[in-house]
Amino acid sequence: MAKTRYAVALGSNRRGRHGAPADTIRAAARAIESRSLSRIRLTPALGPAGRSFANAVAIVESELDPAELLAILKATERSFGRRSGRRWGPRILDLDIILWSEGPFESTGLVVPHRAFRERRFVLQPLAEIAPAWRDPITGRTARQLLALHGKARG
Ligand code: ATP
Ligand code: CA
Ligand code: CA
Repeated sequence: MAKTRYAVALGSNRRGRHGAPADTIRAAARAIESRSLSRIRLTPALGPAGRSFANAVAIVESELDPAELLAILKATERSFGRRSGRRWGPRILDLDIILWSEGPFESTGLVVPHRAFRERRFVLQPLAEIAPAWRDPITGRTARQLLALHGKARG
């Protein structure tokens, strides 16, 4: 396959061997050989973890299909020290596939575009920063439009 493009969301809310969450995100973006990384934002935790999250979005170019890329992302999470545990609990690194240049993809539990990204400001803000014109193939809206809509819905 020719090179395709991915938007990958990076999150961390726990120190790891690379340091604080923001350092972890910078190191993870290098580890997955991302072409560009948005600014890193600190946001309050949503769940019981009780600590702030560092979040960013990276653009990755790859010949892999989404299932193959996800295997690499999961291996990267493990190599950064992530252990399986509570979904919303503290964790060193979370890597999610948000969008793929080739459109929607579904296979054995993997769903692209990511099911929840349209409701998540911590994904939409960095996505609109580095790929404002990227169109969600499900709603037909660009990242910039999705962010604007989210702002209206949530005030
Ligand atoms: P959320 O999906 O709400 O952000 P999470 O990232 O905390 O939750 P995880 O425990 O990291 O959830 O992953 C749960 C499973 O979600 C993974 O095993 C993976 O197979 C599946 N999954 C489905 N779609 C995606 C996607 N687009 N990117 C990454 N993982 C996905
Ligand atoms: Ca996630
Ligand atoms: Ca995940």
